[in-house]
Amino acid sequence: MDHKICSHCEKEKPATPEFFHRGKQGKFGLSSVCKECRTREWKEKHPGVKHRSSAIKAKTQKPIPANSTSKIDDTIALDQQILKAIKKSVANQIVKIIQEAFA
Ligand SMILES: [Zn+2]
Repeated sequence: MDHKICSHCEKEKPATPEFFHRGKQGKFGLSSVCKECRTREWKEKHPGVKHRSSAIKAKTQKPIPANSTSKIDDTIALDQQILKAIKKSVANQIVKIIQEAFA
């Protein structure tokens, strides 16, 4: 199998469309930069934006069930619970330290 060395990460990868995007100018008709690097660069340039391929994937996926909203709420509630627990334990530790200091 033919291999290509990515011009960015310099890793040798199989010269297949699985590892390199198609490109007219590149060797084997494939881009000189591997998919991994392309994806990483794209994410760095577009923070918070979904990659094109994942956006297409999302479109083909089944619609989100109605009960998914409660799932998200649960997650938020859990985060708040954890935050509360952390604050509480920190407060308890501070009280303990003060109590020991003045004992
Ligand atoms: Zn690469």
